[in-house]
Amino acid sequence: MDMTKIPARQGVYNVESYEKVREGFDWNEIKKEFSWYETGKINAAYEAIDKHAKNPMMKDKTALIYSAPDREESITFEQLSKRSNQVANVLKKYNVAKGDRVFLFMPRSPEFYASFFAILKIGAIAGPLFEAFMEQAVRDRLEDSEATMLITTPGLLERVPVDELPALKQVVLVGDGEIDTERYIHFNKEVADASESFDIEWVDLEDGMLIHYTSGSTGKPKGVYHVHNAMIQHYATGKWVIDLKEDDVYWCTADPGWVTGTSYGIFAPWLNGVTNVIRGGRFTPESWYETLEKNKVTVWYTAPTALRKFVSAGEELVKQYDFSHLRHIMSVGEPLNPEVITWAQRVLNLRIHDTWWMTETGAMLIVNLPCMEVRPGSMGKPIPGIEAAIVDNEGNELPPNQMGNLAIRKGWPSMMRAIWNNPGKYESYFINGWYVSGDSAYMDEDGYFWFQGRLDDVINTSGERVGPFEVESKLIEHEAVGEAGVIGKPDPERGEIIKAFITLNPGYEATDELLEDIRLFVKKGLSAHAAPREIEITESIPKTRSGKIMRRLLKSWELGLPTGDTSTLEE
Ligand code: ATP
Ligand code: MG
Repeated sequence: MDMTKIPARQGVYNVESYEKVREGFDWNEIKKEFSWYETGKINAAYEAIDKHAKNPMMKDKTALIYSAPDREESITFEQLSKRSNQVANVLKKYNVAKGDRVFLFMPRSPEFYASFFAILKIGAIAGPLFEAFMEQAVRDRLEDSEATMLITTPGLLERVPVDELPALKQVVLVGDGEIDTERYIHFNKEVADASESFDIEWVDLEDGMLIHYTSGSTGKPKGVYHVHNAMIQHYATGKWVIDLKEDDVYWCTADPGWVTGTSYGIFAPWLNGVTNVIRGGRFTPESWYETLEKNKVTVWYTAPTALRKFVSAGEELVKQYDFSHLRHIMSVGEPLNPEVITWAQRVLNLRIHDTWWMTETGAMLIVNLPCMEVRPGSMGKPIPGIEAAIVDNEGNELPPNQMGNLAIRKGWPSMMRAIWNNPGKYESYFINGWYVSGDSAYMDEDGYFWFQGRLDDVINTSGERVGPFEVESKLIEHEAVGEAGVIGKPDPERGEIIKAFITLNPGYEATDELLEDIRLFVKKGLSAHAAPREIEITESIPKTRSGKIMRRLLKSWELGLPTGDTSTLEE
């Protein structure tokens, strides 16, 4: 593994001031920054939008820059506040009440964000669904959550089995054109007629705010339930980790159907009063570079799958754009390959800050801060207020450099409060006071955490434990390899052997010599036991719609086993 270290920088904190924040840290100190600490009245939608809209210095500031192939729009905090009030009035008219589940199934658009806040303003629980879901995925989630209202578009309606969902009472359709108003609520019409003021529902910190279904990388997606309290950590990590400052233009590429797209695509930037770029439409390296350049984005939060595509797209493309306004890049969702970090350092002269967290954790837990030295391949260190450790299966802490379960001491503001409809599953996360993540990692002597793989993905070959991430990272360092997914394949002699699935970069031919060269490359770079015994070239690597490699699918295909839940599989 490349151990070149990238030196620390000054962020909101320098190293010393950050250490002070950590010492004796108490989340109550953050709470005191909010007026509800005294009034007792809280609603995350108020803190993120209305508060700024009421502030004469802030109300005309651009909250949202929306950019899609067919639509460009800038919306101020005051406008977003008013629009979400209008939608909230429509929801109220149709009797949506506190605690109801209102799901959103539509592309990213200004209407999505207005509706999202409207749901919170009513005190209802929002459930965002990724627009690319097909019928079964939509059905499963609406059934499980017993959503009473769905906000969608006429185009997506055919994927909603409206008549087969007994709990679903109302469907709102966003868009122009013919809408059967006997059956559906006509969003555009109703909103246009609604009042711009709304009496927000003040809720309790522990009242429900969101249900997010997980990515489905390891099995059937779980409905993760979050409460308003989570905003404290969204706000704090927005400040410490994203390093948000008043004049920032921030862009998070995640869809709000995934937790990153709400915690960091909605709450962190707006709780901090920062201008937020939202991009609709499909990914291409060119269009994303254009979005960065055109909007002069200063901080960018994205995922390894996208970053790897930028590396593959090459250095020549980078030279056509101006990224001088960009301060740093952040990454989440999958392990960040060292190759990508060193590439960004060399080609963009930018640090990439990896962050580790999960749908269940609600917000970042282990991170790289601007004031920290980056160790490529490491996820970084825990944020203030978070105790992380590597534990064994009984929840006992393991010493540094030993691989085990990555665990967090139970009880942080944004921690999930339930798995919807599945208390047993919820309980199963906790052992001996620890939240056990299901990821395998080790901690070095300096307290940096190193991701090894999902617990289920760790390969046991001839008595050696090998994390697939390490092998994949080495594979993509080879000039011919585009992407890689590595699994353990049962073997009578060795327990498991390492099998790699790879895609080739343009211009490379699948020959036995090339495969042998790739194998030797891993052997020399890592070790003999980590070199894949089998390498198979594929057109693409199966991924979730949130862009994660689905190793469990590679494995079931390889072994001819049933594929399990594939509702989140990318086409
Ligand atoms: P499911 O729980 O349905 O199988 P999932 O775990 O992929 O899907 P998410 O909650 O979206 O669903 O993802 C969290 C997981 O993503 C983590 O448990 C970890 O495996 C991986 N992950 C997130 N960030 C990082 C990171 N910085 N480095 C390595 N892995 C990461
Ligand atoms: Mg998970």
